[in-house]
Amino acid sequence: MKNGVSYNSFTRRTFLKSLSVLAVFALVPTVITACKNEVLKWIFKVTGANHILGHRLWTKDFPKPSETVNVPVLIIGGGVTGLSAARQLVKKGFQDFFILELEKKIGGNSAHGENKLSKFPLAAHYLPLPNPDDVELISFLKESGVITHFENDLPVFDEEQLCFQPQERLFIRNAWQEGLVPKYGNSVESAKETEHFFKLMEVIRGEKGSDGKYFFDIPLRQCSDDAKYRYLDSITMKKWMLDQSFQSEELFEYVNYCCRDDFGFGIETVSAWAGIFYFTARKNQVYQKDVVLTWPEGNGRLVKHLSESFKEKIKKQQIAFDVKHVNNTVEVLCFDEIQNKTIKYVAKKVICATPQYVNGYLFTGRGKFGKGFQYAPWFTATITLDYNFNPDNHPLSWDNVIYKSEGLGYVYNQHQSLGQEVMMKVITYYYSFSSGDTAKSRKLLYKMSQHDFEKKIIEDLSIAHPDIASCIKSVEVYKIGHGMVSPGVGFMFGKAKINAQESLNNNVFFAHTDLSGISIFEEAFHQGIAVANRVLNEEVLDS
Ligand SMILES: Cc1cc2nc3c(=O)[nH]c(=O)nc-3n(C[C@H](O)[C@H](O)[C@H](O)COP(=O)(O)OP(=O)(O)OC[C@H]3O[C@@H](n4cnc5c(N)ncnc54)[C@H](O)[C@@H]3O)c2cc1C
Repeated sequence: MKNGVSYNSFTRRTFLKSLSVLAVFALVPTVITACKNEVLKWIFKVTGANHILGHRLWTKDFPKPSETVNVPVLIIGGGVTGLSAARQLVKKGFQDFFILELEKKIGGNSAHGENKLSKFPLAAHYLPLPNPDDVELISFLKESGVITHFENDLPVFDEEQLCFQPQERLFIRNAWQEGLVPKYGNSVESAKETEHFFKLMEVIRGEKGSDGKYFFDIPLRQCSDDAKYRYLDSITMKKWMLDQSFQSEELFEYVNYCCRDDFGFGIETVSAWAGIFYFTARKNQVYQKDVVLTWPEGNGRLVKHLSESFKEKIKKQQIAFDVKHVNNTVEVLCFDEIQNKTIKYVAKKVICATPQYVNGYLFTGRGKFGKGFQYAPWFTATITLDYNFNPDNHPLSWDNVIYKSEGLGYVYNQHQSLGQEVMMKVITYYYSFSSGDTAKSRKLLYKMSQHDFEKKIIEDLSIAHPDIASCIKSVEVYKIGHGMVSPGVGFMFGKAKINAQESLNNNVFFAHTDLSGISIFEEAFHQGIAVANRVLNEEVLDS
């Protein structure tokens, strides 16, 4: 169950998709049987966020600038925040800007890949239905065709972009159950506790502070200033659950899974404020739909929509490595990987849509600002499976999770395909290093060999699919040394975020999901809009 989806409703929507899956199962019962016993051999590839180029930020062994480019506004970082800022500039009629992106493709943590069979997400893979009062997001989804029209003032979503059924399943006690909240084989006490937990979340979801605002809302800056729940940021999610006298192992395991999935950190480390935010900030129950928005390429689809109107302004494989004020301008040195030369951009305003650990390298003396930020390392693995892969008599769902597993399960990338059911499957497996010691985990991730990755992935997936190894055709691992920002205890209301978001001289502005503390599409989208509006306001004041 992805956040915001209500616990009780387990009704299955019947979709063309699920019918076609069943039809194929009926037609080819002999083909989808146990996997063959053959010599295990597959194509293996490791990629990742541009680790090598990124690490040159430490050494800065770049050539001297050989070209100067003047531009009124420069955006550093082509992730969702940077792209959303650019979209907002264009919407307001401002076109004089460039975006620098160090990777070959835009999107950052929402970028995607593609192989012969399917597109697939490299990281971000879904968007929950927007909060009904999130006018800007709703307007973007309408302009992108995700929302088709409105009925009774509520958006109506394109059925093909809503996750087809079956959406989620959990492998627990040697069987698949529908949905991710553990139910199969739970004791009566455990089931009661789980129900109580969700009722409590329902109450908090609707609660407003003395200023009339929700305590938990998206975007975060809309949350109430009322301090009633702030104390939750000083304890871990686990402590809060224990304080509420929860005992159910299944409930602890489920909440732990949710926190690892959304924050990289588990309940032993994550702030209880962030943990409760996960369950209460979304007010999308009004849609009466237990679904999320998803695409084969994950949020890569939203990246495409965001960047539609300014593609020519994006400079890929350009790494900004030095930013400084010179008189009333900002000089940005940038290494162009394609032309192997350094360009000096001279801008009136600069938006740093980059994470704070990167900003520490861009500016002299800024390292201290990134100190309070933690980013859990991740890897994803896109696996192509041959026709022998057996989804175990329970239809493959979009999201497939194994109870108590070290990983976070896998997403079936062809799930949204309306074409004929394909026999070879492409799935993306997710793994976060959820310990609080992120530096240690990062070292571990970078040291992992092909054998280490294969062992981790196969041991984990074999719990639910004992024959999976013999069905693998290829594995593509994507390493993310600094995944999303992970809100540990004290982070949400601590000084680190406040200090790091202060603009410099009214011409350098900072925006990134790490400044929200919660790394989700909506926060990046709103960070981008807010920073662009600030830049435009300053621009008006200047002229
Ligand atoms: C494994 C994983 C799964 C996720 N799943 C979801 C999900 O399903 N749904 C969801 O809503 N969110 C998900 N997220 C959260 C995701 O991070 C956000 O939704 C969003 O993509 C963050 O956007 P951003 O622009 O703030 O940051 P980033 O994605 O970090 O973008 C920063 C950009 O700046 C570029 N950059 C960095 N340094 C430089 C430099 N020096 N010069 C030029 N460019 C530079 C980077 O390459 C990158 O493109 C996931 C995150 C991870 C790690």
